[in-house]
Amino acid sequence: MSNSRKVALITGGARGIGLGIATALAGDGCDLIVNGMRSADDVADVLTALRALSARVVYAQGDVSDAAARARMLELAHDEFGRLDVLVNNAGITSVGRKDLLEADEASWDRVFDVNLKGPFFLTQQVAAWMIAQREADSGFAGTIINISSISAQIVSTNRGDYCLTKAAIGMATKLWAARLADHGVAVYEIQPGVIESDMTVGVKEKYDRLFAEGLALERRWGKPQDVGRAAAMLVRGDLPYATGQTLEIAGGMMIRQM
Ligand code: NAD
Repeated sequence: MSNSRKVALITGGARGIGLGIATALAGDGCDLIVNGMRSADDVADVLTALRALSARVVYAQGDVSDAAARARMLELAHDEFGRLDVLVNNAGITSVGRKDLLEADEASWDRVFDVNLKGPFFLTQQVAAWMIAQREADSGFAGTIINISSISAQIVSTNRGDYCLTKAAIGMATKLWAARLADHGVAVYEIQPGVIESDMTVGVKEKYDRLFAEGLALERRWGKPQDVGRAAAMLVRGDLPYATGQTLEIAGGMMIRQM
């Protein structure tokens, strides 16, 4: 098993950061299960572009917050590939309505926590069980789980409290799973992207154009999905050994303060 192509499941992998990761992994020789909310017809062009990188790609439509949809993703992985080497928990949503803390409502809280935290946690639980079984069947098996959180795990946005809280919790989920899976040949990492060009950030483009020009990050540009994709590919290749549980900031140096 350890000598053949790796199979990666990427949630929210048909656009934005997830697509950046899918493209980088396909380019590195992985086959893919791409999950997303849109219909297969709506993502046909994206899948064709990924297949052009010589990857076998199947699409799993479904909501990560829904247990039945998560089970279907893994059934598809079983049926199509019979193995799973990599899970990238990327799907996520921002705070619904981006309301100030004093107006924040429970509907947004529930949805953001379901998608950003509950879904990835329980998907990881199922994938972990399968990875443990794969390792028991083949001592050469090495699994990789990558959680996409955000610099919002560290930086406060008072109009996105629920989002920030889920991203901070993903950091602890990463450490929990790293500890639980270390003896089973599965490494678990967290990537904290900075401000990345994607559909999630189109609505705040002018604000961040200005902030980058003013020096928000040491590298004065928006991050790109490819920047995160290359970091994920490095982890999947095993190019950051002896580092399970580690957090990587892909944020252009945004967290370094100057005076
Ligand atoms: P995006 O909105 O462009 O893409 C998100 C993808 O996830 C889409 O394909 C969407 O269909 C999918 N998705 C959303 N809800 C889903 C659900 N319930 N089930 C399955 N799929 C679902 O966003 P993005 O900017 O590419 O963000 C990807 C991840 O990166 C998110 O977790 C986000 O919080 C995180 N992130 C983004 C930025 C940024 O600046 N864009 C910064 C830090 C972290």
